[in-house]
Amino acid sequence: MTGIDRREFTKLAGGVGITSLASSTFGTFAIAQGAAKVVIVGGGAGGATVAHYLKREEPKLEVTLIEANPIYSSSFFSNLYLGGFRSFESLNHDYSGLEQVGVQFVRDYATNVDPVARTVKTQSGGTFAYDRLVLSPGIDMKYDAVEGYSREAAVMMPHAYNTDGEQKRLLKSQLEAMPEGGTVLILPPDNPFRCPPGPYERVCMIAHFLKTRKPRSKLIVLDPKKAFSKQAVIMEAIERYYADIVEMNLSNEIDSFAVVRVDPKTREVETRDGQKWKGDVVNLIPPQRAGEIAIKAGCAEGDWCPIKPESFRSAKVENIYVIGDASIAVDMPKSAFSANSQAKVVVADILADLAGREKFPPRFRNTCWSMVGPDNSVKIGANYTPQDGKLVASGAFISQPGEGDEVRKQNLAESIAWYDSITADMFAKRAM
Ligand SMILES: Cc1cc2nc3c(=O)[nH]c(=O)nc-3n(C[C@H](O)[C@H](O)[C@H](O)COP(=O)(O)OP(=O)(O)OC[C@H]3O[C@@H](n4cnc5c(N)ncnc54)[C@H](O)[C@@H]3O)c2cc1C
Repeated sequence: MTGIDRREFTKLAGGVGITSLASSTFGTFAIAQGAAKVVIVGGGAGGATVAHYLKREEPKLEVTLIEANPIYSSSFFSNLYLGGFRSFESLNHDYSGLEQVGVQFVRDYATNVDPVARTVKTQSGGTFAYDRLVLSPGIDMKYDAVEGYSREAAVMMPHAYNTDGEQKRLLKSQLEAMPEGGTVLILPPDNPFRCPPGPYERVCMIAHFLKTRKPRSKLIVLDPKKAFSKQAVIMEAIERYYADIVEMNLSNEIDSFAVVRVDPKTREVETRDGQKWKGDVVNLIPPQRAGEIAIKAGCAEGDWCPIKPESFRSAKVENIYVIGDASIAVDMPKSAFSANSQAKVVVADILADLAGREKFPPRFRNTCWSMVGPDNSVKIGANYTPQDGKLVASGAFISQPGEGDEVRKQNLAESIAWYDSITADMFAKRAM
């Protein structure tokens, strides 16, 4: 893929192409007379995009976005902050752009959904009626999956794997406070989880931090898996830049490096094969599940929410869509790019549905970049189309070992342009 600017990104991530629907659909918007109500829970990569595009394409709609936090601190690019390539402030975005385009922003925590009455209740006592509900609450951590770990223990052993800015800051400050020659442990989860290459980009970024700030330190990875996303190019980068710092332990037939027990006070961890490890900084990324509200709404089967791949409607509950990390779209990875792409398909589906118009086959896309060293970013991606009740990948691509430095530098430039584009797309920011 060549360089990506905002116009290109909008085209690529646009699913079925909302603008192509606009001329045929919006002129005869059937429910508009009664101002249909769409409620969205979760103002992240999926939910904020839905709010923006619904209001942009059909201003008459009543669009309410319920979001727990006033500031969205993006997980994507947070590893670059840990590595020293990006400021903490650059990850943070507010909702003023969405309010300006007419989205009703409610800062509150959604506590319950009544799919029969079609209402959402919030912590502060609000009740919001909907014609269509979009749930994009991201992930919750399964704290109890590891003995000794908890929300409180996450202060001592930060996961830094959600939109909580404090978690990222904690991990960074622990790295900064760690003595030279100390040990960092990174404990990735088993599949499926948010952003499959995320923990390994983090390995590279924290290793870069150590190499430049505390070069006698060690970084030990204890992984419950045998393989991981972009493995060949990430291992190549570790060999090239951080061979003296990083020790990768992937599970095999003899050793299981799945973490079963931790002591947050002593920062000790125990793996399934009985081995004990101690870190000065421990980054435990626990197993995950769909955000609680999606489970409470009755949309989950096990940890995740099955969807109808042609629309991302819940496979279980009428009039509810589940997008982003909370949904399980089988082959489509849990990424911000995916969530943004799914959001646009949902917008097209809601608008066509409310207007009683024909629907067009959707096309989804994902691309994930990972920074692995200075001026060096690798990528993976594919298109996805619904087929026989599944999403089927086509046109897949992945960075290869041995690529030239110019290719990797170009990847990095693309990823930075993507970050600016997607955050403008999510939060209705004006052109920069
Ligand atoms: C370290 C790391 C690196 C990553 N790098 C990339 C990358 O390079 N590229 C990429 O595409 N993706 C990347 N990702 C993945 C990406 O961040 C997620 O896939 C994406 O944010 C998912 O979007 P979402 O809308 O499902 O959830 P989120 O973006 O997490 O948004 C969920 C929102 O819902 C809110 N919420 C949850 N429950 C409630 C409730 N009950 N009431 C009100 N509000 C609620 C939360 O506060 C949050 O703001 C990365 C993730 C991590 C952790």
